[in-house]
Amino acid sequence: MLGPPGAGKGTQARLLAQRLGIPQISTGDILREAVRKGTPAGLEARGYMQRGLLVPDELVVRIVNERMAEPDAAKGFILDGFPRTYAQARALEESLAAKGQRLSMVIALDVDEETVVKRISGRLVCRQCGAMFHALYDPPRNDNLCDKCNGSLYQRDDDKEETVRRRLQQYREETRPLMDFYANKALLVRIDGTGAVEEVKERILKALETLDGQNDPA
Ligand code: AMP
Repeated sequence: MLGPPGAGKGTQARLLAQRLGIPQISTGDILREAVRKGTPAGLEARGYMQRGLLVPDELVVRIVNERMAEPDAAKGFILDGFPRTYAQARALEESLAAKGQRLSMVIALDVDEETVVKRISGRLVCRQCGAMFHALYDPPRNDNLCDKCNGSLYQRDDDKEETVRRRLQQYREETRPLMDFYANKALLVRIDGTGAVEEVKERILKALETLDGQNDPA
């Protein structure tokens, strides 16, 4: 799942994972958990994340490889927020090839920057289950409590405006060029990421139908 911060990668990856019965592998979620627990990976990543910078490739590649090796990922998985650089994309190709696996599709969520900034500035995340809400567009039924599990909602540290701008710059410089990389491999499908969550989900499911017969995503 490719796209700028706030494009809806996490939201859509979560829905797709439920639908297809395969795990969502979100490097952002794994790193935030590592920071929270104070693991060595978390300590290394923390400063970069706080500043809105990409965490070094070596660290991210290692955590993704570890996660992809877990039994629940044997049937397939949805990568959310990875790869974000050429080096990561190449490392992913190598890891997949070594296991006889390959990417079935790269979904790029297209959302303009203005919309992304609006989405991120009101974003609320559940501390317990990771569900996402928006103060204006998708408010929780009870202030600051998750509709799904009643966990408390918070604003991510890196969702503050200045950090968001840095993350967008990193996206433009490091990650957006991957669109060409995957387009050249005929893997890229661009999806309009604007509109309601359900609408975007339907667009993605429609794109996935083209995989039927080639590579059963379920
Ligand atoms: P996300 O939740 O995907 O927006 O990621 C939050 C932060 O985690 C990013 O701003 C980066 O600092 C770090 N991060 C997540 N995924 C990666 C990645 N693939 N490469 C480098 N840094 C990452």
